[in-house]
Amino acid sequence: MKGLVRGRVYQTSQFVRCLKIPNGQHLVYHTLIGNPTVINGSTKEILDYFGQPRTVHDFLDQFEVNRSVEGVIVFLAQNQFVVFPEDDQREKVLSLETIITDAASGKNMHVLDLSVSEVCNFGCRYCMHNRALNLNSSRVVGSNGFMSPVLARKAIQEFRENLQRNGIANWNLHLGSAEPLLVFDLVKEIVEYLYRIQFIPNDISINSNLSRLTREMALFFKEYNIRVNTSFDGLPDVNDLVRVYKNGRGTASDILRGIELVRSVGHYVNGVGVTLCDVNFDLVNDKIIDWLVEHQIPNVLFDIDIVHLVDLNVELVAEKFVRFERIC
Ligand code: SF4
Repeated sequence: MKGLVRGRVYQTSQFVRCLKIPNGQHLVYHTLIGNPTVINGSTKEILDYFGQPRTVHDFLDQFEVNRSVEGVIVFLAQNQFVVFPEDDQREKVLSLETIITDAASGKNMHVLDLSVSEVCNFGCRYCMHNRALNLNSSRVVGSNGFMSPVLARKAIQEFRENLQRNGIANWNLHLGSAEPLLVFDLVKEIVEYLYRIQFIPNDISINSNLSRLTREMALFFKEYNIRVNTSFDGLPDVNDLVRVYKNGRGTASDILRGIELVRSVGHYVNGVGVTLCDVNFDLVNDKIIDWLVEHQIPNVLFDIDIVHLVDLNVELVAEKFVRFERIC
């Protein structure tokens, strides 16, 4: 919807939800499409006005407004917050099926995400990977939740064929998903293999808790310019309430050692994920941003533990996320 038809009837979509947040603002989102957006009180009033079917003429007649207000209505319409009442909003979602079909055909696939390890040496309170692993036992790569080199090569081969079929030249590699450094030999083998067969990604990233990081690994990441991402669930004392080893011991000092080790070889930590759960929700505050700045980490991703947060007020969660976004 590029412009407004002043004589046509518009109405606020039945799928719009609004949450009040501080400073007179509101978080508005569409329950089918998403589009979470922070709006001010005046924009909320426009949404309320179109709670009944009304034309833009009605609106302009009733209020003394300038052209910029029309721009706000255009914005609301473009985000499907204000719609033509006769439109079936569910049809918009059906078009998502096309996206899913395209995804299944591999047409838009340009990221290869290899889950090289399904196990982890941490036991974070909220994590699905938090299950016992006897790290002292001898293990064979390919069993016990680790990807086998054969499977990795097969995935790479099939992914490459898919890119060729769809004429896609640029692609990225991500290595995860529980703790990939438990199987660093495989990580190394995959990256070196890609360079050997001249199938080189634009970007390589890895998510690791960094507790097993060695200098050799850090140098390898630097050599191949692999973006390193980790997680830290609050300042050290808070992190250690949530992000723990399987025996309950805190992990902050080991994560910090890993971050410093990456930096000590002249490489960098690209980003940190902060998961908020029932234990640390009230304890993670703006200081975490100062901590990121202090450690020269340019990106942060705040996440929420949707399993254990059932008792938390949704508005409080939204408020916290919006606040962090503003500060960042
Ligand atoms: S470090 Fe990551 S994968 Fe491991 S238990 Fe914690 S959240 Fe799960």
